[in-house]
Amino acid sequence: MKDLKWFEEMEQRIPHGEVRTRFAPSPTGYMHVGNLRTALYTYLIARHNQGKFILRIEDTDQGRLVEDAVDVIYKTMAQCHLEHDEGPDVGGPVAPYIQTERRPYYKEYAELLMSKGHAYRCFCEKAESEEDSGEFDRGDDPCRCMSMEESDRRAAAGEEYVIRQLIPHEGTTTFHDEIFGDITVDNDTLDDQVLIKRDGLPTYNFANVIDDHLMGITHVVRGSEYLSSAPKYDLLYKGFGWEIPKYVHCSPVMRDAHNKMSKRHGDPSYEDLIAQGYLTDAVINYVALLGWSPRGEQEIFTMQELVDIFDISGISKSPAIFDIEKLRYFNSEYIRAMSPEDFAKVAEPFIRQTVKNEKYDAAAIASLLQQRTEVLTEIPEKVDFFDELPEYDVELFTHKKSKSDSASSLEVLKKMVPIFEALPQWDDEQLLESMKKLAEDMEVKNAKVMWPVRIAAAGKAVTPGGAVEICRILGREETLRRMNVAIEKLS
Ligand code: GLU
Repeated sequence: MKDLKWFEEMEQRIPHGEVRTRFAPSPTGYMHVGNLRTALYTYLIARHNQGKFILRIEDTDQGRLVEDAVDVIYKTMAQCHLEHDEGPDVGGPVAPYIQTERRPYYKEYAELLMSKGHAYRCFCEKAESEEDSGEFDRGDDPCRCMSMEESDRRAAAGEEYVIRQLIPHEGTTTFHDEIFGDITVDNDTLDDQVLIKRDGLPTYNFANVIDDHLMGITHVVRGSEYLSSAPKYDLLYKGFGWEIPKYVHCSPVMRDAHNKMSKRHGDPSYEDLIAQGYLTDAVINYVALLGWSPRGEQEIFTMQELVDIFDISGISKSPAIFDIEKLRYFNSEYIRAMSPEDFAKVAEPFIRQTVKNEKYDAAAIASLLQQRTEVLTEIPEKVDFFDELPEYDVELFTHKKSKSDSASSLEVLKKMVPIFEALPQWDDEQLLESMKKLAEDMEVKNAKVMWPVRIAAAGKAVTPGGAVEICRILGREETLRRMNVAIEKLS
């Protein structure tokens, strides 16, 4: 074990006097909705309190190389505007921020805990197989009451061992959670969990306590699946004589009343949602409300507004159900609120999936879509007619409301073609005025002219934008060509 001076120096590095929160993902290669929510709440608590938001990568349990998966975390955090103040990529006062790089610390602290009488070496054969199961019956464990001399001697002789937490048999442990309140458990229900494995590496349950302390974390925000381990964490802090951070355990995000959301069962991760055409800001806004309620009626919040009003007391004890329809609603609200330029930017890749012809302006097409789009993935199918006039049935020209039928449509189109050919300008105003003028001359409603023009131009009944916009974007030549196709079909 290191000398006490080393431990003192470690203590001196710990920042004090500020709120410090951490998001501690394991690199899995994608971001769970529940994890994103944890990251967001963790970030909001830090920012709301002018504190520090720390990113720690918890990669000790990972068998495989996880570099790409760590990149996914950086990328997602940046996209979601969850900028961290300290982390593996930006450094900070309590580096390193990757657990595998902190390996040398854990053993030292386990030995420190042993010297304080709250941990012991366990040489039992069965220890290894049971170390992660939590099933170990410490009543049977002769190592628990082994003298320090014997323990040291056997370790020095090269015998293998794990280090276990020594949990009192009697009494109770009470800890406080900001959401769930005070929770008391009988100590005899807690197992002497393994802290350091036979290979010298820490278990997650030990590493997180050491890291949270050494990083000066004031609020530990995480999923409620860790609630049952919290009393053991508490006993670790007490064993070291360390201040216990505030616990904020968040209830799970559910797919329905009975099941947690899970990628394995096909529920979307953050990346899936983006690929499905949801906007990051809408996802963040929706996720903020998955288990946290603001005080008023407002639902749409900017990140800054969330920072301003977020409070831990608004986090719910009950699980939240992920409702994709509600997210759709948020998404359409966000799309509508965007500037036309911003919308064109996010819509363009989706427009270009079907509109490959560069002569059709993506920004112009985007402006037809903005008020009508809930999810970006709806776009390609909506605008596919620009590149290619679809095969369509002349039945489309029959439309009750505009009083159109095949005969009236043929008449309108035949009259419209020479007028369009002669228009001095191919713009919205002249297109509209010329169609209105024809309706007037024919003594019919405008719709009776516009319906066949739009059907002829698009070849489908439902289009974003009306006859004017579609003709304008198609251009004169292509519009006339399509009108003549229609005349032929109808003749
Ligand atoms: N690495 C853990 C997880 O991804 C974090 C738990 C915690 O925040 O303490 O579930």
